Amino acid sequence: MFDVSKIRSEFPILAQKIYGKNLIYLDSGATTQKPVSVLNKIQSFYTEFNSNIHRGVHYLSNKATEEYEGARETIKQFLNAETKEEIIFTSGTTDSINLVAFSFGETLVNEGDEIIVGETEHHSNIVPWQMLCERKKATLKVLPANINGELNILEYKKLLSEKTKLVAVAHVSNSIGIINPIKMIIDEAHKFGAKVLIDGAQAVQHLAVDVTGLNCDFYVFSGHKIYAETGIGVLYGKKKLLETLKPYKGGGDMIKSVSFEKTEYAELPFKFEAGTSNYVGAVSISEAIKFIRKIGLEQINSYETELIKYTEAKLSEIPGLQIIGNSEHKTSAVSFLLSGIHPYDIGMILDKLGIAVRTGTHCAEPAMKLFGIQGTVRASFAIYNTKEEIDQLYEGLLRIKKMFD
Ligand code: PLP
Repeated sequence: MFDVSKIRSEFPILAQKIYGKNLIYLDSGATTQKPVSVLNKIQSFYTEFNSNIHRGVHYLSNKATEEYEGARETIKQFLNAETKEEIIFTSGTTDSINLVAFSFGETLVNEGDEIIVGETEHHSNIVPWQMLCERKKATLKVLPANINGELNILEYKKLLSEKTKLVAVAHVSNSIGIINPIKMIIDEAHKFGAKVLIDGAQAVQHLAVDVTGLNCDFYVFSGHKIYAETGIGVLYGKKKLLETLKPYKGGGDMIKSVSFEKTEYAELPFKFEAGTSNYVGAVSISEAIKFIRKIGLEQINSYETELIKYTEAKLSEIPGLQIIGNSEHKTSAVSFLLSGIHPYDIGMILDKLGIAVRTGTHCAEPAMKLFGIQGTVRASFAIYNTKEEIDQLYEGLLRIKKMFD
């Protein structure tokens, strides 16, 4: 196993005190903190070779382009994509999903077609599909989950038909941390010729992802949840499929030639990267991947799984505490409620103890409706968290319980 204290020392923000207490950051599902290697890379990019990419013939522009395209190569290897052209830079998971909903929707979805989304999805993986269905007079179908938040595969098989054009599900649910059986979901959809988009926003930082092995059609994630910058994300798409799709946004960098009579679009991946992209952000993802590789995703996963199991066992000792989303297959987060105490109050008091958790619906209102609740308290983890921090969370919750009792 690796040395967690050494890893923590690479995250300067974690050394802070909040209200005089050591910061305990349990909100990495919302965004991860950044290691010095990523922070240094961003600074050195701006101090040494900042220049706009793809456009200049001068040294700095070539250097910046090299770094940006190098980042694409690193991400290609990280996801095990077949070619670099399958990696599109976007501004984040939400942007990637909107890109597919528009481009795939405009090209391949017609009146009467069906799109399937999981019941526990983040709003980002619901609303763009609703908008598409409204535009195209298609129908949105919901892949139901059981009361634990596990997707019901038997019901899923009944929903699939020749009308199904696309299935969109999260690799890992953001509100409850359940790992969905995506390989099975992909294989079943393909039997009907439907395409599958996997929202990997809560997965890539915790689990090894092999898009070629999975055979998914699209895979998306955000930089800021994987130790990199905000405002940058990735869309992986199968090359042959992406080639058939209309571009999402028009502008500079995505064209081969422009005239008032006829504009020709650039080849992949540039066809989907209109305007100046967040090239520094792209490079920060590459650096974050190097940080992850140094530890190894297998080690990360086994350590974080241990943390989740420890958290669940420890919190379950608290009378009246209910874990939402019970499943053997979890990573990234533990959601819970404490009987008779509003999640918001819990979050506010934990904050005063230096403990940062997320409270509310976690942008997953349909999931909360399924559980029959208004929201939860969510502790979400990253590689820098420790069992001692979980013990502090446990002590904090006991204190809150006493106050309210
Ligand atoms: N999908 C999932 C599963 C998420 O957890 C999130 C963010 O929490 C998103 C999509 C949206 O990500 P972003 O806001 O980075 O676009």
